[in-house]
Amino acid sequence: MAQVVSNKRVLLKDYVVGQTKESDMILKSDTIELKLPQGSNGVLVKLLYLSIDPYMRSQMSYSEDNFVPSFTPGSPLKGYGVAKVLESGHSKFKKGDFVWGLVGWEEYSIINDPETDLFKIEDNDVPLSYYTGILGMTGITAYVAFNEICSPKKGEYVYISAAAGSVGLLLGQFSKARGCYVIGSAGSKEKVDLLKNKFGFDEAFNYKEEKDLDAALKRYCPKGIDVYFENVGGKMLEAVLLNMRLYGRIAGIGMISQHNVVEEEPVRYLLSVITKRLTMKGFVVHDHYDLFPKYYETILPLIKNGTIQNVEDVSEGLESAPAALVGMFAGKNVGKKVVAVARE
Ligand code: NAP
Repeated sequence: MAQVVSNKRVLLKDYVVGQTKESDMILKSDTIELKLPQGSNGVLVKLLYLSIDPYMRSQMSYSEDNFVPSFTPGSPLKGYGVAKVLESGHSKFKKGDFVWGLVGWEEYSIINDPETDLFKIEDNDVPLSYYTGILGMTGITAYVAFNEICSPKKGEYVYISAAAGSVGLLLGQFSKARGCYVIGSAGSKEKVDLLKNKFGFDEAFNYKEEKDLDAALKRYCPKGIDVYFENVGGKMLEAVLLNMRLYGRIAGIGMISQHNVVEEEPVRYLLSVITKRLTMKGFVVHDHYDLFPKYYETILPLIKNGTIQNVEDVSEGLESAPAALVGMFAGKNVGKKVVAVARE
């Protein structure tokens, strides 16, 4: 007889319009038989760490145009996580393997298409939670934005918004290592101090204290911006366009300020793209997952020798996940937001 255990799950209550709140998600306690259905090619996993990611907000609303499918009300949210394989019906995975990839927001999940949704963790010398961030989706996002989209050169002026977040902190470290002049913005004094004192940003400011973002950028980047890593959108992008230098490059990584609005804000000053001969290129990281082997070759030694540092902001227990996701839109996380569901 297979063991039956309790299985906490976080379900979407209903499609969300506007600002998301914790009550948009329901914590439910079910039971699950720890056994794969007869003939399954899937894997049964135990969730260890959940990654909290801004893009999930778009899946909480109904849209046929979503670049990732909308969640189903009454079903668990789905996102990135690290898990342990308890049983496998797939030849590429075996019991005891650690994996990262797309999992349900539930303590135990059956992943029906593990070859598409999961990656096997091959290097166990780093904490498993790192595969939610620096060694997972957000890590390779920073790598792609830096190397494939903008390729900053030594001495260039690089500006990063949401700089104290998961993607931002990595971009800052890559840019400093390249010898760029790096400016970052974030939403609290604590984050600004971290950028300047721990990560060596040349300048950093709290955008929430600035009434006029254009004036702030003129003060912190008086020579203008060669490379902008765009994480925020809206009014920040407008101000940046006014401060770009000739032939500047903008990586369209994310626009978190637009996730909780009912209608997207218009952006002015796009004429700068022409007059300043700018290149602005967006990307979705899933299209670049073939770069993981190359990325790991570069990043793993840098993590192990301490050249690149990883900052995690960990909440305990699956029940803390709704607050963690909502809190991200209020800027509560410092570095990669992780929920530790179980440690082994
Ligand atoms: P993160 O930066 O760790 O966390 C998000 C941060 O954004 C918050 O801590 C908050 O920091 C800031 N923020 C929240 N609401 C904001 C608002 N209304 N205006 C300005 N700032 C706001 O998140 P992340 O995972 O590293 O993601 C960073 C960006 O990359 C996001 O836009 C995300 O969607 C994007 N992304 C894109 C891809 C892709 O495939 N293109 C992949 C991964 C991530 P402060 O307010 O304190 O600065």
